[in-house]
Amino acid sequence: MGLNEKVPNQLLHLTFMTTEEIIGKDGLNTLLRYAKLDKFIDNFPPPDFEMVYPIGDFIQFVTGTIDIFGERGARPILFHGGTQAFKISLDLFPDMHKIDKTKTVEKKFEQFVSLYKTAVEASKYIYGDVFTFSETPEGAALEIGPCFWCLGLKTEKPICHAQVGFQHGFLQYVMGGEVKVEETHCIAAGDPVCRFVMYKP
Ligand SMILES: [Zn+2]
Repeated sequence: MGLNEKVPNQLLHLTFMTTEEIIGKDGLNTLLRYAKLDKFIDNFPPPDFEMVYPIGDFIQFVTGTIDIFGERGARPILFHGGTQAFKISLDLFPDMHKIDKTKTVEKKFEQFVSLYKTAVEASKYIYGDVFTFSETPEGAALEIGPCFWCLGLKTEKPICHAQVGFQHGFLQYVMGGEVKVEETHCIAAGDPVCRFVMYKP
């Protein structure tokens, strides 16, 4: 089990783009300068899966966001980034468009589990063998450890809101309506793994 040392360009591209949507270009540039990532000012990595930049760059950005906005203030930024990342990744997974939304809750959740398993397998190639997906009494759970969202961070509360946003977008797309996703454990807050629960509605 280990994280890849480099992150896909797409992760940085989406992170910068969605942050700019929320705090504006000046805000993003201030944040990039604070995080000592001036090299990305007006120079986002392209939205592809080439592994060019070290994971440290990504972590510096997340750390800077939390330093500047605080744990609570960073939450909507990270969550929004995660939901946007899901919307964009929809285009990369043609199977996602075959979902049958007329089925019962039970059947739709089965579809969700099957699609999510495929997504987790694909993610292992991109981020490393750090994901464990399982079906649970509540619905389903994903564990990440080590976790690229919170590597080296120390926080009071779970902080991997971008992952929560991604899973929330995914679950809502398949199930429709209101859905609930929660980060119940987080390495940054002292737990052995980051754990995300996706509730069956
Ligand atoms: Zn984490």
